[in-house]
Amino acid sequence: MISQDCIFCKIINKEIPAKIVAENDDVFVMQDINPKAPVHYLIMPKKHIVNIKELHDSDSHYMSKMMLMARELSKKLPGDGSFRLIMNNGAGAGQSVFHMHCHFLSGKKMLDF
Ligand code: AMP
Ligand code: ZN
Repeated sequence: MISQDCIFCKIINKEIPAKIVAENDDVFVMQDINPKAPVHYLIMPKKHIVNIKELHDSDSHYMSKMMLMARELSKKLPGDGSFRLIMNNGAGAGQSVFHMHCHFLSGKKMLDF
């Protein structure tokens, strides 16, 4: 479940501090240490999964759990609750931490893509 040298596993395991936003049996949410928007959360599975490229069929439920967590987080946003989700899969796409996570961004206009 836990990878010894993974910073996000250590945070999930409470070995390294972080600003925890929410958690349940399957999913963990914290504030990004270098926020790119007024609201910038990282939604991740508690199980160490590298990224979608390495997602096993048997772990696919983590994807829906992450989306359901996004839905719950959106209910606490001001205004119309708009948010953007971004997942970087692989170094070439900008992934820098190799524990699958979804960036949850909100609080500013994000009309460009
Ligand atoms: P990515 O580049 O898509 O892999 O995203 C990794 C994200 O993790 C970046 O936005 C970092 O700012 C964030 N990050 C890295 N280390 C920490 C940490 N210790 N606590 C919170 N966020 C972190
Ligand atoms: Zn990990």
